[in-house]
Amino acid sequence: MTFFENAENQGHESIHQFYDPQTGLKAIIAIHSTALGPGAGGCRMWQYENEASAIRDALRLSRGMTYKNAMAGLPLGGGKAVIMTNPDSPPTDDFFRAFGRCVDSLNGLYVTAEDVGVTVDNMRLVKEVTGFVAGLPSTDGSAGGDPSPWTADGVFLGLEAAAKHRLGADSLDGKRVAVQGVGKVGYDLCRQLHAAGASLVISDVNEQNLARTRADFGARVVAPEKILFEDVDILAPCALGAILDENSIPGIKATVIGGAANNQLATGQDGQRLFDRNILYAPDYVINGGGITSVSLEYMGDKTQADVQAQIALIPGRLTEIFISSDRLQTPTNVIADSMAEAIVAAAASAPAPAK
Ligand code: NAD
Repeated sequence: MTFFENAENQGHESIHQFYDPQTGLKAIIAIHSTALGPGAGGCRMWQYENEASAIRDALRLSRGMTYKNAMAGLPLGGGKAVIMTNPDSPPTDDFFRAFGRCVDSLNGLYVTAEDVGVTVDNMRLVKEVTGFVAGLPSTDGSAGGDPSPWTADGVFLGLEAAAKHRLGADSLDGKRVAVQGVGKVGYDLCRQLHAAGASLVISDVNEQNLARTRADFGARVVAPEKILFEDVDILAPCALGAILDENSIPGIKATVIGGAANNQLATGQDGQRLFDRNILYAPDYVINGGGITSVSLEYMGDKTQADVQAQIALIPGRLTEIFISSDRLQTPTNVIADSMAEAIVAAAASAPAPAK
């Protein structure tokens, strides 16, 4: 599909492709919407099969950021950068500075941060050449730093709200939770679940991450292909996208699903499949909005970690609103969330421009 076909179907505003001959950088920045503010979303560095798959990813991820930022109540639109890596030439410091110049050339249309494959140290180099970047270490209680613990906080609070709604539980004490992926977010989520009295079953493909989580929280370990089908109350996907599909959904025993992973539903219809099985699905881009909230408040400046915490405390209320509408309208939660996000963006897009 070409960019123009995509723009017509999904409403993207622009796509920018960059090549830096000195460092070999090949980067794509997609802007889905600037109705609410600058297009904001992390930079993903990945070995893509070809240019078309990198563009597809940038378009898909930037659209997702519009929905996530809208539902997190942030004054930000949706954007995303992807960098195509080449295993024969590992990125140098100048490579990231070159990326920073690409971001800078868009004059604030796009704000970047870390995503898969990109570290805080990489972003420090980006910061040398542009101000349109966040996700850098904070000092003195100001907002900023690694967004993962904030994402975990939001997921934990969201799971409490989901358990209350579907299981009538006032806490997660005694609940059985399966966590797929115990990396940065999954580990921190396990820490909070364990402290709340939940019992944990986990899986990961990284032995080190598994061993650490098992040792620290007494989690039971199962093979990666089993985790989705464990006999638990709650399933928390914190690894990969597209894990909820026509093959996996029939075998899921959990009655609540909520986790950090982006794009958990393989297709929109999988939301209906979960709904038909009476499984309460917490839409991923609503429950995992804690990290972008931290990044956003850092970018705005003059905000503290207490401000981030206060904003993340709104996630359970938003989810409960979605759950109640879903029950009332007999409509899957992903459809309700999409229409709420689209209404927020549409209202901003049609608002009169501020007087100059
Ligand atoms: P991470 O890379 O630190 O952790 C992911 C973990 O999943 C790793 O331990 C990895 O080994 C494991 N994994 C990979 N394949 C697996 C499989 N087949 N089965 C089980 N485990 C597997 O990443 P993270 O920062 O913790 O993010 C987790 C997910 O949440 C990602 O999908 C990410 O896009 C999403 N997310 C993260 C944030 C954030 O703030 N970090 C914010 C929003 C969304």
